[in-house]
Amino acid sequence: MRFTGQCRCGQLKLEIIAQSLPSLYACHCLNCQRWSGSAFGLHMLCAASAVQITGTASTHVHEHAGQASTQYACGACFTRLFNETTAAPGMRVVRAGVLDGADQWTPRAHIWVRRKQAWLVLPEDVPQWQESPTPEDFGRALLG
Ligand SMILES: [Zn+2]
Ligand SMILES: [Zn+2]
Repeated sequence: MRFTGQCRCGQLKLEIIAQSLPSLYACHCLNCQRWSGSAFGLHMLCAASAVQITGTASTHVHEHAGQASTQYACGACFTRLFNETTAAPGMRVVRAGVLDGADQWTPRAHIWVRRKQAWLVLPEDVPQWQESPTPEDFGRALLG
């Protein structure tokens, strides 16, 4: 399958080639709310080799919990497309809202629901965690 997306101005384009829809989850932590300026971050966990960009990306590196996170954004319109983190080598975490058709997909997990905005009601049949799940639990939820 081929998924496409772009920044707000269209200068920076993204393409994902994958066997199936990569794992989609929502993070309700305060950092994701701040980064997105919205209620939660909608993230798609992809193999780095599956994610290609065309156009010019600006990068921003910051430290979080002892790990280095590199953000890739459009330098013209400042839309953030994905990040890489030393916590998950070989992966790219795509901001799924930039992808075409994202409105049709359902997150497979909700994490950091302790910080979830009060008005937002989550479906009960989707796994959720108060904070970060263990990698094992998270992997099971995302693959399920
Ligand atoms: Zn742009
Ligand atoms: Zn988060």
